[in-house]
Amino acid sequence: MPGRIQNKAALITGAGSGIGLESALLFAQEGADVLLVDINLAAAEKALALIQQRYPNVKSAAIKADVGKEADIKAAVDKAVELFGRLDIMFNNAGIMHPEDDNALNTEERIWDLTMQINVKGVWWGCKYAILAMRKNPEDPARGLHTGGSIINTASFVALMGAATPQLAYTASKGAVLAMTRELAMVHAREGIRINSICPGPLKTPLLMDFLDTQEKRDRRLVHLPMGRFGEAVEVAKGALFLASDDSSYMTGTDFKVDGGLTSCYVTPL
Ligand code: NAD
Repeated sequence: MPGRIQNKAALITGAGSGIGLESALLFAQEGADVLLVDINLAAAEKALALIQQRYPNVKSAAIKADVGKEADIKAAVDKAVELFGRLDIMFNNAGIMHPEDDNALNTEERIWDLTMQINVKGVWWGCKYAILAMRKNPEDPARGLHTGGSIINTASFVALMGAATPQLAYTASKGAVLAMTRELAMVHAREGIRINSICPGPLKTPLLMDFLDTQEKRDRRLVHLPMGRFGEAVEVAKGALFLASDDSSYMTGTDFKVDGGLTSCYVTPL
C-alpha cells in the first residue's frame, strides 16, 4: 500500500529532536524522501541512522544549518532539490525558547533579537526558498492536481493565548509566525502552494522539559491542560503529516491546533 506522501520530497528543520525528529520518521514511513536539517548535526545524523535502518527504500540525508542564517536555509533547500529533484514539503519547525526570555521588564534586547532571528526570520527564509523551489517543481500528472507544495510553519498555542508565566519574545515570535503564514498563504494560493501553521500545545520534548525542570513548574501548567497531560512530539508530527499530505488539499492559511484542547478551555475537568 502506498504511503500518504509517497514519492514526495520533504525538508524538515529542527529534525534532530522532538517534533522534527518524529516528523522525519513519520514522513519517511509514509514514503517521502527526507532531508533532515538541524544546527546540531550529530542529532540530525542520529535521526538519519534510524530512518536509514527502518525505511531503506526512501532517500534521506542530514545536513547542518542554522535557520537564523539566510545562506544556510538557501543551501539546505538547494541540497534537497539536488538530492531529490524537487521539493514538495517544507516543514519550518526549528525554534528556540530561550531560558532568559521573560517579561517586558526583564527580557534583554539580545534575547529578543536572537529569538526573532531564529523563530521569525528563519520561518520567513524557509518559506522564501521553499516557494522558489516549489515553483520549479517538474509537472507530474501522477501527483494529481496539487503539484505546488505544502509548507508547514510551527507556531505555538502561546500565539493564541496569554500566559502569566511570560516568555515575551517567544510568544511574540510565534504570533508573527501565524500572521506571516496567513499572508503568505493568500499570496501563493493560486500557485498551488499551501502554507499552514501548526500550533502545538505544551509537549514532553527537551525544549519545554529542560525549562520545566521541577515538579512545581510542571504542575503550574498541568492544572490548565484539559487532558491532564503534556502532549507527545509524535502527536504533533501526525498533524504535520496531515498538512503535508494531499488529505489537506483544501486547507491553506489555517492555524492547525494540536493542543489537547488547551486553547478551547475555560475550566478544566476535575
Ligand atoms: P526540541 O528542542 O526538542 O527540538 C528543536 C530542534 O531544533 C533541536 O534539534 C535543535 O537543535 C534545533 N534547532 C534549534 N535552533 C536551531 C537553528 N537555529 N537552526 C536549526 N536547528 C535548530 O523542540 P520541539 O519541542 O520539538 O520544538 C519544535 C518546534 O515546536 C519549535 O518551533 C517550538 O517553538 C515549537 N513548539 C514546541 C512546544 C513544546 O512544548 N515543546 C510547544 C509549542 C511549539
